[in-house]
Amino acid sequence: MIEKIVIANRGEIAVRIIRSCREMGIRSVALFSEADRMSKHVMLADEAYPIGPAPSKESYLDVDKIIETALKCGADAVHPGYGFLSENAGFARKCEVAGITFIGPRAETIERMGDKISARRSMTEAGVPVVPGIQRQLESATEAERICREIGLPVILKAASGGGGKGMRLIRSESEIGEAYAAAKSEALSSFGDETVYIEKYIEEPHHIEFQILGDAHGNIVHLYDRECSVQRRHQKIVEESPSPFLTDELRQEMGKTAAAAARAVGYVGAGTIEFLVDKNRNFYFLEMNTRLQVEHPVTEEVLGLDLVKEQIYIASGRPLHLRQTDIVQRGHSIECRICAEDADNGFMPSPGLVKQVTEPNGLGIRIDSYIYEGYEIPVYYDPMISKLIVRATTREYAVQRMRAALDEYKVTGIKTNISYLNAIMHTPDFVRGGYDTAFLEKNEKIIH
Ligand code: ADP
Repeated sequence: MIEKIVIANRGEIAVRIIRSCREMGIRSVALFSEADRMSKHVMLADEAYPIGPAPSKESYLDVDKIIETALKCGADAVHPGYGFLSENAGFARKCEVAGITFIGPRAETIERMGDKISARRSMTEAGVPVVPGIQRQLESATEAERICREIGLPVILKAASGGGGKGMRLIRSESEIGEAYAAAKSEALSSFGDETVYIEKYIEEPHHIEFQILGDAHGNIVHLYDRECSVQRRHQKIVEESPSPFLTDELRQEMGKTAAAAARAVGYVGAGTIEFLVDKNRNFYFLEMNTRLQVEHPVTEEVLGLDLVKEQIYIASGRPLHLRQTDIVQRGHSIECRICAEDADNGFMPSPGLVKQVTEPNGLGIRIDSYIYEGYEIPVYYDPMISKLIVRATTREYAVQRMRAALDEYKVTGIKTNISYLNAIMHTPDFVRGGYDTAFLEKNEKIIH
């Protein structure tokens, strides 16, 4: 069994992981940059070590420093959280070589699924429907033109190494292809250090619906049902819920089976997410796989009564899954709002700085995964998300009401937050009705602001 875990992350997710470690009687080790001396994860962990200057590249992304610290403190495992090194196959491999368990899938799986082109190829071979398009690198703008004629416009150019909603170019008319191709390539290179791009059909107003899966080291796979993640701004999720209000029970079962089969096909070990796009006619297509814990994992935990971090740790320590597919039942409804230190009235500019006062909601069915406190100075260097507000209720209608009440109660002063923006979303008729798609925020811009 794992006895000591280094958390190679910061913020709310580091705090979240420390909590599960404590419950399991596992010693937790925090790592921190110079900007994070006063961060909550440092205070909560059993041990804490500095790993370098504030910029992520010199601290949270410094593979050698992290492994060296893990070895020095005698840890037997590393949890990467999300972001930073969580999908870095090189890091996973180096951990293995150093004799430290990487809490996540095998390096080879991270590599295979991390490249969107090879993931599409693997899924096609496994018989999983993928968004129509090519399974190899796009070589030229002329080739792009030919493919556009084959699959029809609109199409989307995407970076093979893309993430965070970046490196995508929508093409609606043939005249845009040349410029879009050049722009997509240079953006891919500057953002991800890899200029490989490919092309796929642009699905109009799709739903982003994903399935959580778990696989153990003994070949057992289960899926943990769906999350609806269609409330997006610039292709980034803001609000998530489970179950998805758009899926019929029949489709939910079918997609769950497909997700489990997809994971099985790549011999998946760990917690992962299969993301799908679902069109208006409820056809679904594999979009990508995330080989780590997701930001929105709590909504799954809430409707299933499970702790996904614990599950990850059990899997990493070699235990067989204790869950059978038939034991897994969704109960009630859960919604998550991502609370960010940003100015929603000013182009969502990050708003770091000193947190003066915090009043957090609490009560029945309310959960906050946060790392801020009064007197804490939010650093400028990292992601502006400060907490996640998660509610659970017996029905979707009650969950929406509970989220509104909780957002009303949530007060943070000293910095700007998106709390009232999120509350406006909770009052938007399209959201309240459910069944909204990824164009929701754009369509409702006037009502929400
Ligand atoms: P990232 O890895 O950057 O998050 P994804 O491939 O997961 O990128 O896509 C993010 C979002 O972009 C999707 O949830 C969806 O809203 C939009 N998107 C991506 N591909 C398509 C597509 N082919 N058609 C329509 N929308 C898409």
